[in-house]
Amino acid sequence: MGRQNRPILFWLYNTGMSIRILASEVASQIAAGEVVERPASVVKELVENALDAGAQRINITVEEAGRRLIEVADDGSGIPAKELPLAVERHATSKVSSAEDLIHITTLGFRGEALASIGSVARLSLTTRVQDSAEGAHLRVEGGRMGELQPVGAPVGTLVRVEELFYNVPARLKFLKSDTTERRQIDSLVTRYALAFPRVRFQLRQDGRLSLQTSGDGDRRAVLAALYGVDTARQMLEVLAEDDNLHIGGFISPVALTRSNRREILFFINRRPVQDPSLTAALVQAYHTMLMVGRYPLAMLFLDMPPEAVDVNVHPTKAEVRFRDTSRMFAAVQRAVRRALLAHTPVPEWKATSAFPVTGEGFGSGDETTRSAPTIPHPAAPSPYPPPTMQPSQPLPGTPPPILRLVGQVASAYLVAEGPDGLYLIDQHAAHERVLFERMLAQREAVQGKPLPGQTLLEPATVELPPAAARALEDQLPLLGSLGFQVEVFGPGTFLVRAIPALLAGMDATGALRVLVEDFEEDETPLQAEVEARLIARVCKRAAVKAGRTLAPDEQRALLDDLQVCRSPRTCPHGRPTMIHLSVDLLERQFGRRGAR
Ligand code: ADP
Ligand code: MG
Repeated sequence: MGRQNRPILFWLYNTGMSIRILASEVASQIAAGEVVERPASVVKELVENALDAGAQRINITVEEAGRRLIEVADDGSGIPAKELPLAVERHATSKVSSAEDLIHITTLGFRGEALASIGSVARLSLTTRVQDSAEGAHLRVEGGRMGELQPVGAPVGTLVRVEELFYNVPARLKFLKSDTTERRQIDSLVTRYALAFPRVRFQLRQDGRLSLQTSGDGDRRAVLAALYGVDTARQMLEVLAEDDNLHIGGFISPVALTRSNRREILFFINRRPVQDPSLTAALVQAYHTMLMVGRYPLAMLFLDMPPEAVDVNVHPTKAEVRFRDTSRMFAAVQRAVRRALLAHTPVPEWKATSAFPVTGEGFGSGDETTRSAPTIPHPAAPSPYPPPTMQPSQPLPGTPPPILRLVGQVASAYLVAEGPDGLYLIDQHAAHERVLFERMLAQREAVQGKPLPGQTLLEPATVELPPAAARALEDQLPLLGSLGFQVEVFGPGTFLVRAIPALLAGMDATGALRVLVEDFEEDETPLQAEVEARLIARVCKRAAVKAGRTLAPDEQRALLDDLQVCRSPRTCPHGRPTMIHLSVDLLERQFGRRGAR
């Protein structure tokens, strides 16, 4: 666009009233804006085309985060030479022919827009051959202008090359995020399709590096392992439910495996990845009280239904859908997830008839399992004791607690301490997290920009990470180095940890590295200091003494003392309370010594 269109805009602004039809080139660029927002959208459209063409293998090559090159090669049906020029025209599709067809869409594409859009904002070329033809065909489109159709030798299938994306739309280029972000978007996009189509062999290379590879043998759990690592894949619970002509399958995480955001909650409707807040809510609700506030499960759920039950034509990029019967979908997802969770949940420790009042009865109610509400013996499960609310004198988080005297430890998880104003229960894990966090920050200040001291491991630890996580980690290597970690890239997705921060000596290095990347927020570019504090908070959480460890009396005392000299002793770095105060006043009321019972 650029130069030759500027006069038109100028003229429009000046006359105000005049309306004119846009030059077709400009019109296509505007339309392209809806479909081709960023490099990952190009990958999405090309991969969908390959899948629609029945490809068994799809090889994707990306250079410079897709700005320089996106190439998708498939072994699908190919495009007959004489139809090739049509394929790159707007509203040209082989997938629907009438409005009626739109109701029964079984292909991923149907709008006939993608190739035309891509061709108007990049240098596009297609090489393709169908089975029945001895010869292939080649066609180039640049800035919306089609070149000559040329005969070439080519294997059956299609090779699409997209070079210099947005070369003629500088405004778009400016809006692209960092290469890291764009690369990650591509990784996660291909990931989704690989999950949805386990029978297709996917290979993704970014800048010469193998980012993702699946075998195409149909085993979804194997795809999961390729994507999220063997550990995570092994832990995921299987979901399987059939209801009339709605089939729900896939995987969800057990309650112990969570993330700090909803990004790993993936839904596929008839194998199309979609975002649907209502289905996400159904899933999260199914976990009910089993998750801690602010934690979310991982899930990949595949809903298959007759095409009439869902309208996929509500969004230009088809990222959202509309169901005929939303509440039925909601209920079905919730039921399927609950059933899977119940089936895999360890035997409850307490019967509902026990002396403990069991709260949170919602779990397992509402469907066939109304019997009793099991209390899930898991740290994320809520306490069966009613929380000591009614504390009008709750102090502000910043105020230091009074000097406390250690009484002891209960349940290998809490310190009990006494203050002038009552009893304090201190969560040993949260408290230790706070202590380590402040120490590390203090040390960081003290060394003034120099790296924190590290402790070399006797034997370096190897950590394997899925592509997206590996990238996230690589980006953070310099920062990790400054925190006392010594981590090296060992191979694709493999890292070697040679040293960990001396302050955290003894912690398991592999786990530390994993938590560093597990929820790395991708789209924000917060201040470096913030990233740092977050990383520190995360490793400290990992390093902190866990609930369930019995502490020797001097360890208990040391922890309590350390906590009391913290600047913010009342919360852990993630904002959860480190201590609960049971005031004398409260105790007296509870025991009926004072006031009404
Ligand atoms: P849509 O996918 O919505 O039909 P596109 O612009 O993406 O629109 O593609 C236009 C047409 O080009 C498709 O309908 C299909 O016939 C053909 N086509 C595109 N990519 C491929 C491919 N990889 N293999 C076979 N045919 C393809
Ligand atoms: Mg398409």
